[in-house]
Amino acid sequence: MNEQNIFIVRCGEIALKGLNKPYFERMLVERIRKNLKKIERSDIPIDVKRHEGLIFVRSDKSYDEGDVIGEISKVFGVASISPAVETESNLDAIGEAAVKYMLDLIQNKGIKTFKVEAKRADKDFPVKSPDIARIVGAKVLIGCKVLKVDVHNPDVLLFVDLRRGISYIYDTKISGFGGLPLGTNGKGMILLSGGIDSPVAAWMMAKRGMMIEAVHFHSYPYTSERARDKVIELATIIASYCGNFKMHIVNLLPIQEEIVKNCREEETTLHVRRFMMRIAELLANQNRAEMLITGENLGQVASQTAEALVVTDQSVKLPVMRPLIAMDKVDIMDKAREIGTYETSIQPYEDCCTVFLPKHPVTKPKLQKILESESKLDVRALIEKALASKETIMIKPE
Ligand code: ATP
Ligand code: MG
Repeated sequence: MNEQNIFIVRCGEIALKGLNKPYFERMLVERIRKNLKKIERSDIPIDVKRHEGLIFVRSDKSYDEGDVIGEISKVFGVASISPAVETESNLDAIGEAAVKYMLDLIQNKGIKTFKVEAKRADKDFPVKSPDIARIVGAKVLIGCKVLKVDVHNPDVLLFVDLRRGISYIYDTKISGFGGLPLGTNGKGMILLSGGIDSPVAAWMMAKRGMMIEAVHFHSYPYTSERARDKVIELATIIASYCGNFKMHIVNLLPIQEEIVKNCREEETTLHVRRFMMRIAELLANQNRAEMLITGENLGQVASQTAEALVVTDQSVKLPVMRPLIAMDKVDIMDKAREIGTYETSIQPYEDCCTVFLPKHPVTKPKLQKILESESKLDVRALIEKALASKETIMIKPE
């Protein structure tokens, strides 16, 4: 067996890229290296290399295989990972390695049946794929007497990936999230609340290669320190996928109080949302983010009806990305569970939006009417006042 653990990493969608493919692959390698730094010991480096459209990660046996896979699978752009063994590219060596591989599986997992599937990346190799599979299968049958071939429903599907010089054997493909490597698609400013939706929205945009920066609004002392800690905790989970990012924290209370004083009660949430968007846009412009991102979802609440979204959108010039817009709530919740934010999101701390929640919020607002009541406010002065309270912290993965 190999001295090191070897992992084959497949790039998925990047394979479809044309001339830019090497750039995306380089970025992916960089991201994998960066994530592995979290577990890497300085005296025993982990090797990450690109070769023939695949990425190979080699780690010393002293590293826990699950930890290495865990870090690689969090990298956006990774389609799948296979722990593999390598062998010389001749059928005797491959056969011998396959027998050893299967003996291991018999001992550890009690497998009884198998099937071999072969792929020949080296087209100069004189034996064709189906014959490679047949020959290796025959060697396994001889070497592992307890095993039988089952072509329909085998306990183990053994893959042989025959390449020039070195070949690989594996039996599992662990799915990654796919997407594109972080840093290949600009930067977005996510409006991050403590809810279920916005962390998922941030994650989804990051998965498409977008760097993120966040802004969170609170209404201290109406909202508590605990509510703030909860958002930092959510941001930290997001950082485990996309590394360090900045989060701006802004007190919205002075603005909310002015809105409550001067505008119709049923419009409160909409006015608040327009201010949030404007402040986020300002911060985006200052920090070179090209877009805003929200967790809005069509029809979920009064402020997310089609008419309300028009009113919200009109407050800013930057494009607003709403990756959850057409998803069903159950699917958003599933995603939140999958990425690990759900349990934190459902902790019941108040959000600044709930502080002055109107009893009967308008669901079909008219832009003209909203603009009229907004004209009673000194928008610029209020924004400046809120920004004076801004605090910026660096979010880092744990
Ligand atoms: P979420 O689960 O993300 O809180 P929600 O269903 O509660 O969403 P709203 O409260 O109407 O919906 O907020 C819609 C979007 O506005 C959120 O997804 C988020 O992007 C942004 N937002 C809401 N509250 C805040 C906040 N306190 N700080 C920053 N952004 C916020
Ligand atoms: Mg919310």
